[in-house]
Amino acid sequence: MKVYPIPGRGYGSNSYIISSDKTALVDAGTDAGNIIKETSKLNTGIDYLILTHCHFDHVAAVPDLAEEHGPDIMAHELASVYLEKRDSGHILSGLFNAECPEIKVDVRLQHRDVIDLGESKLEVIHTPGHSEGGICLYERDSGFLFTGDVVFKDGIGRSDLPGGSRDKLRSSLQTLHELYLREGVKRICPGHGPLGEGRDIEKNTLMFFAGD
Ligand SMILES: [Zn+2]
Ligand SMILES: [Zn+2]
Repeated sequence: MKVYPIPGRGYGSNSYIISSDKTALVDAGTDAGNIIKETSKLNTGIDYLILTHCHFDHVAAVPDLAEEHGPDIMAHELASVYLEKRDSGHILSGLFNAECPEIKVDVRLQHRDVIDLGESKLEVIHTPGHSEGGICLYERDSGFLFTGDVVFKDGIGRSDLPGGSRDKLRSSLQTLHELYLREGVKRICPGHGPLGEGRDIEKNTLMFFAGD
């Protein structure tokens, strides 16, 4: 498995191309052109487009990428409902002065589902708190964890947006911390900012709990 990070531009989220037997893209961000440039450089299509959650800064480029690459679009079942209803309150499109994109989700994910890329498998971990239908994705062999807006290299996601909950965020962080202690997560690939290491989960989680 190889991971190609595509840093987000402006307020757009990071995206990650995961190249195994199948190719997945984690989050679409806001700049489809930038991602299409990367996929043509790598000479790859996108089989699966996996959304960590329904916020506009992660999903705005989905329609253009769907048109270009025709991937199966995957999101947690709760995020899927908001995306398909074009629920601006949960997608937060108003915050960005934009319309909700039109998105049809092909695969509604649940906690513990496994996305099969062939040699590599992505495990779905439901991590609500920043948003209701938020997920992280873990690849056991490489120890890569894709964390969306739950944990960053230097902090924790907000819980004060619609659908957010500090209590749920607390238990999601607990889940990720346990995963780190049990599996020794090596690398975190967050929705914004630079990549981090597994121990950043511990550092940021302990800081969060200390502030409670
Ligand atoms: Zn975000
Ligand atoms: Zn978000």
